[in-house]
Amino acid sequence: MDSIWINAPAKINIGLDVLRRREDGYHEVKMIMQSIRLFDRLTLTKSAEPGIRLQTNLHFLPVNEDNLVYRSAKMLMDEFGIKEGVDIQLEKRIPVAAGMAGGSTDAASCMLALNNLFELGLTKRQLMKRGVKLGADIPYCVLKGTVLSEGIGELLSTIPKMPDCHILICKPGIHVSTKFVYTNLVLDENTPHPDIDSMIDAMRKKDLHGLCSRLGNVLETVTIPAHPEIDVIKKCMMENGALGSLMSGSGPTVFGIYDDLDKAKAAKEKCRALPYHCFVFVTDLYR
Ligand code: ATP
Repeated sequence: MDSIWINAPAKINIGLDVLRRREDGYHEVKMIMQSIRLFDRLTLTKSAEPGIRLQTNLHFLPVNEDNLVYRSAKMLMDEFGIKEGVDIQLEKRIPVAAGMAGGSTDAASCMLALNNLFELGLTKRQLMKRGVKLGADIPYCVLKGTVLSEGIGELLSTIPKMPDCHILICKPGIHVSTKFVYTNLVLDENTPHPDIDSMIDAMRKKDLHGLCSRLGNVLETVTIPAHPEIDVIKKCMMENGALGSLMSGSGPTVFGIYDDLDKAKAAKEKCRALPYHCFVFVTDLYR
């Protein structure tokens, strides 16, 4: 085998809570991650010429060590002393800096693909252990599916699968700095925390309506006041048949959950018509 391709799925946060800020500045989180069928695609081809050559369809993305794909490939190739080279084609479809872990899923998929291409024989757990050195979300992106993430994002446990549904993604054309959001997060007695345990309970009971009534992301308390259009998008989704709607990660992506595909498609057109230059996409869960 000289060439291999892999789909790298995006994630959304069905629930995101921050429990406390640690002495070392890290935040202790409790979040439910869910992969969705919105993919970047990586194609890796072995080459006799040593080194890593990365190409991508997005001209503004770096193709050197600043790209997580390059860095993850280099980490594995250095460790295993691989003398051959690799050409990597990265086709981005997941919006960049959107709260959907685009870079992390690319890195995770690159490691999975390299492991196969060069027959390194690493297990998923071994890849996750290496991936966390490059980013807290990378181990989850190796695992994928419906996962509870705790600690600073490194403690992962599988939980009951999310009930089947359709997902509308809407990312307005604004930039949100993750650092700004975490720096300005106020955790006090007035902070509304989502009840992650009861969300997991609803998943266990396959109760989509119960789950959707409990959606919550504590980071909305920072991002929405700074970018009120996020709330407008949420309301647009709810007024157009969503069972629930929430911001993913630190934003600005908003998702809506639907039990009816036609409603999701109609809501997509409503969101597209909003004056925020939105990327809109209807999809479903990646298991
Ligand atoms: P998260 O949900 O983990 O916060 P995100 O979706 O908000 O991630 P990314 O799309 O991963 O953010 O991009 C964040 C930054 O990482 C970008 O500014 C980009 O320059 C850099 N980056 C490095 N490698 C990649 C990659 N393969 N794809 C996208 N961005 C990358």
